[in-house]
Amino acid sequence: AYVVTENCIKCKYQDCVEVCPVDCFYEGENFLVINPDECIDCGVCEPECPAEAIVPDSDDKAAAWAQLNRDYSGQW
Ligand code: SF4
Repeated sequence: AYVVTENCIKCKYQDCVEVCPVDCFYEGENFLVINPDECIDCGVCEPECPAEAIVPDSDDKAAAWAQLNRDYSGQW
């Protein structure tokens, strides 16, 4: 799955939301998150993010954010 990271905080462009074919973006407290169970790993959102906040979960930066994405996407 892909993961939204810190660059999204207080940014929340919606470009990624618009292109996601399975609508797996959710509103976090101050950033958007991706539901890892719904993400189909298509990758189309990654280049759409102007803040470069979206990374594959294999990325080093993703580790700290993966659980937050999971938590927030279930809560909202
Ligand atoms: Fe949606 Fe594809 Fe991005 Fe996953 S990788 S969040 S399915 S656009």
